[in-house]
Amino acid sequence: MSKVLVLNTGSSSIRYQLFEMDDRTVLASGLLERIGEDGSRLTQTIGGAEPLVVDGRITDHQEGFDRVFRALRSSGGLPGGLAGIGHRVVHGGERFSAPARIDDEVIAAIRAQVPLAPLHNPSNLLGIEISRAAFPAAPQVAVFDTAFHRTMPPRAYRYALPRDLAHRLHIRRYGFHGTSHAHVSRKAAEHLGRPLAEVNLVTMHLGNGASVAAVAGGRCIDTSMGFTPLEGLVMGTRSGDLDPAIVLFLHREARLSLDEIDTLLNTESGMRGLTGVNDMRQVERRAADGDRVAQEALDVYCYRIRKYVGAYAAALGRLDALVFTAGVGENSVVVRAGVCRGLERFGIRVDDARNRLRSRESRTVSTGDSTVAVLVVPTDEELEIAEQTLATVGRP
Ligand code: ADP
Repeated sequence: MSKVLVLNTGSSSIRYQLFEMDDRTVLASGLLERIGEDGSRLTQTIGGAEPLVVDGRITDHQEGFDRVFRALRSSGGLPGGLAGIGHRVVHGGERFSAPARIDDEVIAAIRAQVPLAPLHNPSNLLGIEISRAAFPAAPQVAVFDTAFHRTMPPRAYRYALPRDLAHRLHIRRYGFHGTSHAHVSRKAAEHLGRPLAEVNLVTMHLGNGASVAAVAGGRCIDTSMGFTPLEGLVMGTRSGDLDPAIVLFLHREARLSLDEIDTLLNTESGMRGLTGVNDMRQVERRAADGDRVAQEALDVYCYRIRKYVGAYAAALGRLDALVFTAGVGENSVVVRAGVCRGLERFGIRVDDARNRLRSRESRTVSTGDSTVAVLVVPTDEELEIAEQTLATVGRP
């Protein structure tokens, strides 16, 4: 019995994948969207078959999970029980530095992190509680977005705020996308044919959300997202790094409320704020057509990443490889070239032809004489959660 079900429960969606861990294949995957809204939709795919689509209003998560489990059962996807259920949990706070086998105490500890992730942890908890009731015999594991970054030293995670205040309110840098940074770090070392413990990497997860991590021998020593996922890179709709006084200025001068500023910085900024669109493909198309605004936005986007690469090379002291991943990192020839532009003197040389090659596999896009390898490594957060779930269940 080595099937693992991975659940990612959002506030209005449930994403799931069922893995056969003997050969790491996906038996079924699905997405239930628009829970609690009109036009809820469950789409489930099994193997290469046509997706099963079920429409109709689903009022809450309980009904949503009933529907998901029914779809999985009717597909024959759940015979013989599960080796484990892995839950993506966004915030593990200061408590969790590794996946945790779920019991009442772990649930209470996840609940204690709700103030740090009020939009995410409550729905993650709902998913845990409903699936615990539905599959009482299956071990359940929480896999945290923040856990991989718990190895950051204080010099990287502390903000220069009054110590007592920061301590009392748990204000520090946590970092996110940890599951993805962990996954591509391991894959990158495999691709390089070297033990993970011996390689120093800068991993760049560039999706709608985006973050960079400095990974020394498999351990994260710094990352660009901080107390929340708002810090760091320019993202699809998030501003990334800002002078914090801008927040005060927007409040005092533009008379925006705190909620309005929250919305502005998280959903109306980044590439959307700079260009009007957040899809990188559209931005690239416009830039290629000579749109100066789109070109400048691309420059801002790549330059911010390049600065982090420089900072993290300094933090690591020695850099073996740059790793691009997620939607933009895996697909954008322009962004990879733009990030590495001007870094030749630091030993980072992208090979134009290799960079243009399309593939779903891990690959090297640097030249033979590049002293730092530049890699594209597809991420797979669900598989990583399944791997970590299986490893956690197998531990005594
Ligand atoms: P999420 O963070 O939502 O998981 P993804 O990792 O799927 O996001 O990344 C989404 C982003 O990837 C979008 O901005 C999309 O424009 C970008 N993207 C996907 N394909 C390409 C491509 N061929 N060229 C440039 N950007 C791409």
